[in-house]
Amino acid sequence: MPKSLDPNTIILCRSCDLAVQKRALPSNVRALCPRCHTALYDVPYCSINGMLALCIAALLFYIPANFLPIIEINFLGSVRTTTVFETAVAVWQQGYWIVGVAVMAAAVIAPGLLILSILLQVSIVKLKLHSCFWQKTYRSLLKNHATLSQLTMLEIYVISFLVAAFNLSDFSDIYLGMGTFCFCMLFLVILFLQREYNLEHMWGMADER
Ligand SMILES: [Zn+2]
Repeated sequence: MPKSLDPNTIILCRSCDLAVQKRALPSNVRALCPRCHTALYDVPYCSINGMLALCIAALLFYIPANFLPIIEINFLGSVRTTTVFETAVAVWQQGYWIVGVAVMAAAVIAPGLLILSILLQVSIVKLKLHSCFWQKTYRSLLKNHATLSQLTMLEIYVISFLVAAFNLSDFSDIYLGMGTFCFCMLFLVILFLQREYNLEHMWGMADER
């Protein structure tokens, strides 16, 4: 490491351990490692148009992901299909209401609210809504963002469909439905949305008051 580097602003590349001096970046720029081109830091990266596109894509997948069959079990001629929504209700009706609530919250309600919350925040920034009401809404959305983001746990369900499908496939025919595809796509879109979203940057766009 050259002696001139200030130790407080140095970061190590995650891939190749090269010491890099952190600098202030212009907006919408990602810093890459000069040696291996790994993304190093992207704090000010938060494309409003990109997030708007991802929100719309997520909304398009949201309804079919929750209300189309995720799994079709064909066991000795009897065919059963189920959706994420029905699964939560069925688990509730079997007496495991805590599990039902957890499935409902983590797979249906939280992702839906997260998408709507980001969509609203992006719209407020994009349409430059400076009135007191919109700024208040914007602030309260930002304050609740972390909770919604932590409650959204689609990956658990993607893994559990696959585990269930592989386990059941030994003694019955399993077909993964259109719902599974939409659910996986919803998972991917939300993953990219959360990667693009930067809370600190969103706070920077709130009106100073
Ligand atoms: Zn590197």
